[in-house]
Amino acid sequence: MKVKIALAGNPNSGKTTLFNALTGSNQFVGNWPGVTVEKKEGKIKGYTAKGEEAVLVDLPGIYSLSPYTLEEVVSRNFLISEKPDAIINIIDGTNLERNLYLTTQLTELGIPVIAAVNMMDLVRKNGEELNIERLAKDIGCKVVEISALKGEGIDQLAQRAVAIAKSGKNVQPAHRFEGCVEHAIAHIEEAVTGHVDASMERWYAVKLFERDKKVQESLKLDKVTLDHIEEDILSCEKEMDDDAESIITGERYNYIGSIIEDCYKKRVKEQMSVSDKIDRIVTNRFLALPIFALVMFAVYYVSVTTVGNFLTDWTNDTLFGEWIIPAARSGLEAIGCAEWLTGLLVDGIISGVGAVLGFVPQMLVLFLFLAFLEGCGYMARIAFIMDRIFRKFGLSGKSFIPMLIGIGCGVPGVMASRTIENDRDRKMTIMTTTFIPCGAKLPIIALIAGALFDGAPWVAPSAYFVGIAAIVCSGIILKKTKMFAGDPAPFVMELPAYHLPTVENVLRSTWERGWSFIKKAGTIILLSTIFVWFAQSFGFEGGSFGMVEDMDHSILAAIGSAIAWIFTPLGWGDWKAAVAAITGLVAKENVVGTFGILYGFGEVAEDGAEIWGSLAGSFTQAAAYSFLVFNLLCAPCFAAMGAIKREMNNIKWFWFAIGYQTILAYTVALCVYQIGTLATKGTFGIGTVVAFVLIVGFLYLLFRPYKERGGSYLER
Ligand code: GDP
Ligand code: MG
Repeated sequence: MKVKIALAGNPNSGKTTLFNALTGSNQFVGNWPGVTVEKKEGKIKGYTAKGEEAVLVDLPGIYSLSPYTLEEVVSRNFLISEKPDAIINIIDGTNLERNLYLTTQLTELGIPVIAAVNMMDLVRKNGEELNIERLAKDIGCKVVEISALKGEGIDQLAQRAVAIAKSGKNVQPAHRFEGCVEHAIAHIEEAVTGHVDASMERWYAVKLFERDKKVQESLKLDKVTLDHIEEDILSCEKEMDDDAESIITGERYNYIGSIIEDCYKKRVKEQMSVSDKIDRIVTNRFLALPIFALVMFAVYYVSVTTVGNFLTDWTNDTLFGEWIIPAARSGLEAIGCAEWLTGLLVDGIISGVGAVLGFVPQMLVLFLFLAFLEGCGYMARIAFIMDRIFRKFGLSGKSFIPMLIGIGCGVPGVMASRTIENDRDRKMTIMTTTFIPCGAKLPIIALIAGALFDGAPWVAPSAYFVGIAAIVCSGIILKKTKMFAGDPAPFVMELPAYHLPTVENVLRSTWERGWSFIKKAGTIILLSTIFVWFAQSFGFEGGSFGMVEDMDHSILAAIGSAIAWIFTPLGWGDWKAAVAAITGLVAKENVVGTFGILYGFGEVAEDGAEIWGSLAGSFTQAAAYSFLVFNLLCAPCFAAMGAIKREMNNIKWFWFAIGYQTILAYTVALCVYQIGTLATKGTFGIGTVVAFVLIVGFLYLLFRPYKERGGSYLER
């Protein structure tokens, strides 16, 4: 026997945590609403008899079963059409009122519901009391108190959920609406009898009462019936002097109010919790941004410049430079390996992949910090703070969530934009999310900061702030075009209380992200380095095709030189840099891998710390920073471009996004190089003039008035 149990609850109620606790799955825990867009399944182990199976389905976080957001539609379609054997409704015990709104709807579905009141550790700590026997009676289903985080009550919940699912008994909601509403609903129930599952009649009737378009369409009722229903609704609306949807909402909240009065006791003294005290400072109007900037500066500074750099230096210089590469070379020579094969293995694969792997320690340190910031609840605050700022420019703070995810990897970042209902805001977010430096761009940042700026502390954090500036400026510029004008989507978000994340969660999330990079190094980066090595080893020299002595005669040099002129105004018109930027389109780590091969990561190994010396020799600082900026902002890697294409679901928009990113990257990089050269060397030329013209144009786009609406957003 196989039973299917759905896990439903509000965003941030602890669904993912509970899902992991029940299934032992390695699911990533993000603590902002709407991350769980896709359906995830796992098996509940240990609570079923032999030969039985209980599957748990993690639904997207939702506040109600109305058809307004993608998550709601996904969740309710699943519940109605798949009709799971039971629903575990996870309820955030510290936010009973908001969470019970969903509960009142779930119990109408006719599917057995078990309510799991989560965060009981916090409820108790706050000195609040909950009478669960009464709660169970009031909502008409079984209730279990749990703490998903601490693993309390999980056993009992799992046992009962499986038992209820097996029993196959349907439930009826404990609650009845006001007389005339109940009357209308009873009529509608009669009308839909035979059209829907008997146990779901009530849910359908309530939805029809609300004039839910999706339900109306799905039922295909005939005109006469629909007219009858409409009559019932109209007379009820008249009696209650309100529209049908508001009537139901109001009724639900009345009902919830009475439940809370019946079974919930708030702490007597209204004290400010520690979390509130921290928030007074951290989300303060004036301090919020400086604190955020400081935190991110510290994160990048520590992970790229200090601790991370120490580890990376060791991996690059000692592990690869002194041990692996020389050992591999002499080993291969000793066994009489063909020269070209030694070249491929040592100068190609080990140098290319090794150059990328050398940066893994830095990535891990960065991911460790990010996992901690997410886990403790700070990242949720950032979305909240950014919303306040974004709103001033007509943007929604919801756009910031994909960007926060994008710090790890742009692909899930772009995918997270799905939760933005407003089409314009979503498109704009998809276009700008990958400006945030993802983990794969970290090696480029670390390499430039280390090799060309001697580890100056400002370089790595500045890459992050360039990304944010690109997003904010793009947002403002795009909002001023006709295409994107309009009010931002509302953004509601409950801030979870601060808490120390579990060591296990932090390590798991760090490792999952880190591991995906290592896997990438073993596959896509490996293939790319093999290609780059062959292309730089073969070519026409002395009139015949073969292995070349001088890399400048290789196929790769020919390809690179054909496009290098494009980048001359940016200060790095060298074919090697051009090739590196292009291979970066496959995966951003390739930029470093390609440098590793072309600038002989393997050859200068003897002098340890100077391993990237030949690279440093071929760039000025202005050119290096321009190269960095270009690679940060230009079209992302293939995987992220694929995500952009999928999410845009329109080829024209896809190219618009890619084109916009690349043009912006080119413009900014050009200005960085030209102005940087003017400032450091006093060089003035046609490029400088172009840079100034571009800056003026950019400022115009940034500061011109908003389209089609008087005045700016700031005035409203
Ligand atoms: P989801 O959005 O519903 O998937 O919620 P998550 O599982 O991501 O949890 C949101 C936040 O609440 C995370 O930071 C969790 O660590 C935290 N959390 C989950 N369950 C509990 C709990 O029982 N007690 C406390 N104190 N925190 C919890
Ligand atoms: Mg989740």
